[in-house]
Amino acid sequence: MKIVLQHLTKKFPARGSVRGRKNREDVIAVNDFDFEIPDGKLIGLLGPSGCGKSTALNLICGLLKPTEGKIFFGEDDVTGLPPENRGVGMVFQNYALYPHLTVEKNIQFPLENLKGADKLSKEEISKRVLEAAKLVQIDHLLERKPNELSGGQQQRVAIARALVKLPRVLLLDEPLSNLDARLRLQTREEIRRIQQETQITTIFVTHDQDEAMSISDMIVVMKDGIVQQIGKPQNVYDDPVNLFVAKFLGTPPINVFSGEVKKEQLYIGSEAVLSTPGVSDQPVHVGIRPEGFLLKEDGPLSCDLVRLEVMGRDVSIVSTHEKSQNVTIRSIIDADEGKSLPTGKVHFGLKPAKVFLFCTDTEER
Ligand code: ADP
Repeated sequence: MKIVLQHLTKKFPARGSVRGRKNREDVIAVNDFDFEIPDGKLIGLLGPSGCGKSTALNLICGLLKPTEGKIFFGEDDVTGLPPENRGVGMVFQNYALYPHLTVEKNIQFPLENLKGADKLSKEEISKRVLEAAKLVQIDHLLERKPNELSGGQQQRVAIARALVKLPRVLLLDEPLSNLDARLRLQTREEIRRIQQETQITTIFVTHDQDEAMSISDMIVVMKDGIVQQIGKPQNVYDDPVNLFVAKFLGTPPINVFSGEVKKEQLYIGSEAVLSTPGVSDQPVHVGIRPEGFLLKEDGPLSCDLVRLEVMGRDVSIVSTHEKSQNVTIRSIIDADEGKSLPTGKVHFGLKPAKVFLFCTDTEER
């Protein structure tokens, strides 16, 4: 089921505003979302806290009404429909399980109050519950109560409960944030597996770029209610549209310098570090991915070594670039390449595909 958002906007009135007086500015939590989510894909909605991710999800599931715009599931306009008539399954970060009910009863809860043609027989309910429990691999835990389960198992119950009504769309709001690091990793792979098995169009909200990049078919990067970029994770990483997106994706984060283009050469400090054919003279922000540096004896960027960390395949080099006020550079090179690792001074060349130039007047769209 594809999801189409047309000029979807949600404004909240400014807090503490007084009637009759000019209000403080409204918060535009979701600002003119206008894009399509293809059928059967997993989409990561990604951005810092407060950028409007949950609001967008709540609009799509029907818990909030948009100020403007429309939402379609396939050809159906669902904008005016209440959540129960949209065919969405929702999973929240706190699982929201009923503590007094067994796992089985928790999963079957959404099926109990179906009316009319949707009403299911007892046998059908048991069958559906077992199918959902098997899908998330908790069918051996059906008799337990939530407090007898680990966090990861509780989240699986929540996912089974969201899937048991065979929703058209699955919405996950920060589903991993209450889990410890190891379980987070396991559960995110699990979510990917379940999504691929069921082929349900799924929206996954997170502030964690690693999480979104690793399991999504497509990511939507947001800031202050505005979509900054949409694309395949690798494409967005390789070709960020602005400095905000460049900085938001990647661990360790991108290195940022002030630079200047003069006569088709990029200068950082007084050194020409890269030729930039076709770029007109102007000041720029320069973003260089950690893997964009090459150890090179006559390389134009000369730095002071601060720390070397050999991490199996990779060597992480932390150094400072004295000509630009000792800006710290975090670079990663292949262990092979670093056979004679630097001591004291480090000289870098750059890989052009890993260097991005951004105009200096704005960080975002
Ligand atoms: P995120 O999920 O990315 O952390 P939210 O969607 O929760 O962001 O919030 C986006 C913006 O909308 C924030 O500035 C938040 O304070 C504001 N907001 C969210 N819900 C309400 C509400 N019910 N009333 C007023 N402002 C709200």
